[in-house]
Formats: sequence, C-alpha cells, structure tokens
Amino acid sequence: MSVEFTDVSGRTKKPKPDLSAVGKGFGGLFSDHMVTIKWHDENGWYAHELNYYAPLVLDPSSQVFHYGQEVFEGMKAFRSNDAIWVFRPFENARRMKRSCKRMAMPPLPEETFVAAIEKLVQADRDWVPSQPGQSLYLRPFMIATQPSLGFFRRSNAFLFVLIACPVDSYFAAGNSSLTVKTVYHFSRAAEGGTGAAKCGGNYAGSLLAQEDALEEGCSQIIWLDQRERKWVEELGTSNIFFVFGDKLVTPALTDTILDGINRRSIIQLAKALGYEVEERPISICECRDAAQSGQLSEAFSSGTSSTIVSIGNVRDENGDFMLGDGKEGKTTKILREELSGIQYGSRPDRFDWMHRIL
Ligand SMILES: *Cc1c(COP(=O)(O)O)cnc(C)c1O
Repeated sequence: MSVEFTDVSGRTKKPKPDLSAVGKGFGGLFSDHMVTIKWHDENGWYAHELNYYAPLVLDPSSQVFHYGQEVFEGMKAFRSNDAIWVFRPFENARRMKRSCKRMAMPPLPEETFVAAIEKLVQADRDWVPSQPGQSLYLRPFMIATQPSLGFFRRSNAFLFVLIACPVDSYFAAGNSSLTVKTVYHFSRAAEGGTGAAKCGGNYAGSLLAQEDALEEGCSQIIWLDQRERKWVEELGTSNIFFVFGDKLVTPALTDTILDGINRRSIIQLAKALGYEVEERPISICECRDAAQSGQLSEAFSSGTSSTIVSIGNVRDENGDFMLGDGKEGKTTKILREELSGIQYGSRPDRFDWMHRIL
C-alpha cells in the first residue's frame, strides 16, 4: 500500500547554513519541511501532509498540555556512496506502535511511518550533511490534541509530526570517555510504569537528577532499579553495556528499560564478531568489584544520538571506580567503528539494516 502525502508547503526555501559546520549544538537547527498526519476517532488517520516547517497552532486545552499524552522516536539519515539511507526505520515504526499502546494512543501503521520518513528526507535531501560523523536526525512524535480538560477517557484526536535537524557527531573532536554518576534518590521508571515507552514524561521526570549530576561534573547518570537500588538499568537516555574480556553484558529488558534499536543492533553485531553476549540483571556492586579486579575493563552507552560512547569513570556514593584506564577500550572501539561503518557505508551492511531513501 502506498501512502500519499499532499504537498501544502508552498514557500520559498530558507537560506541553508553551512552544513559542514553544523557544530555540536544538537537539535537547534531544522530543515525546510515537516510531515503532519491527523487522527480523529471518527476518521482514523487523515490529512497526510508535507508542510513548510512552522509553529503548530493548537488549542490551549489540547490534552497533551495538561496530561502529557505524547510519544516520540529518534533516528538518523546518512549520506554515503552518493545515496541517502536511514538506519532500521521499521524498528522505530514498530517501537512507536508499542509506545502508543502503552500511552493509550492510536498506532500509526508502519508503512505510513516509513512513508513519512521517505517523504521528508526526499523533500529535504539537501539538508543531509556530508561530513564524517554528520547526519540528519529525524524526530517523529505524536501528541493528544482533543481540546478538553475532561479526563474521563483518552483523547479522541491526535497529531503525528515529523521534523528533521542536521547534527554533527557527538564528539566533534576525537573521542573521550564519559564520567557518570549513579543515582540513588531518583527513579526514571517504576515497575508497571511507562519506562519502556519512549514518551516525553520519562524525560521530564529525569531532568532534575541529570542537572544534579552535571553540577558535580558528571555528564550522564546511571539509573538503578527503583525497588532495590542495586540493578543497573540505563545510562541517562541511552542503554548500557559492560565488557568482561570477550563477553558483553547488558541489562535484560524489563518494563523499566527502553528497548533500544542500537542495543539490539550491538547485540547482533557483537555475536557476529565472535563475542559472547549476556542479557541479564547486573548489579552496581558486581560492576565495582569486577572493575577493581580488572575483569571488567570497559563500559559504553548505546543510543541513536551518540551511537556508542565509552564510559571512563563511575562516581558512586558507595565507592568510585574506573573502567580500564579510563579511556575508550578496544572492544568499544571495534563495535563503534563497525556500527558507524555500516551506517556511513565503509563496512558491508551485513544485516541489511540500511534503508535506501534515494
Ligand atoms: C531512545 C532511548 C534509548 C536508545 O534507543 P535507540 O533506539 O538505540 O536510540 C535508550 N534509553 C532511553 C530511555 C531512550 O529514550
């Protein structure tokens, strides 16, 4: 089934900045267009449009402003070998459907989601930057727009929007490792809550802990489970991996951990490269002991915005520890280079992950 979008953008394009100097400021510069699709319980999905990028006009009583019914996704388009590719968009489409289910929102069909991505990337192809490490970040999201403060049932109207911004690699100049802090007094997610859905509320609730960590000179936080404050769950808004020799360990998925597409991809890639991969509960005490005895020598974060970033030091109120020599280790480097090689076309796309747009 092909999905048709009406082009209602009709404006001259804005002057494009020098994309080779996008800079490290993630997410402040947007391309010319956006895709919008509406839902009403009586119509289903309708008004599939390509619009000029512009402010949205919404009723102040729209439910999203009061009750936070919102989900989003994040993915990237890459320029390589004279073509433009998106990394595993159907995985994002499926995850958005799962997030919608948890947040009592109507699922957008996968083919519509991917057609929206294709439409926007085609319209704004000139916004896909071409320097190493750069990409066009794609941000689909969905909000509840029924104008009503009544909270008897879910909203009957929704708006799906897709916007895009050119971004630079996370570390514009070379690689460095993160210093991170374990959080004992806040939770990102609770059992039975919304931690496994990619929704804005999870982010809003984690800002204060993130701010505290920044003040102490830590760029990210390690979230522990909310029941025992013992089991490692995620790193900020990324998944987390530990390297024990030739074995990778990452926390097993629960309803308090987001099922990252990079996480899945790294598991698959690592196995293909001959590493053993365990998905199991891992406690912060085990990490500290193994780091001190030298068995655990590397750790890294995984997520779309920064791909793979090494973790050098952990500040923990029960004892700080360092991973290896605090610099990026060899396994982290191998996996980072392999994954970004697939995305930028310098390594074979052995799992057919790249979806060609044009
Ligand atoms: C988006 C996200 C991730 C990473 O998911 P990717 O699909 O790999 O980008 C991890 N944790 C949280 C909380 C997230 O929101």
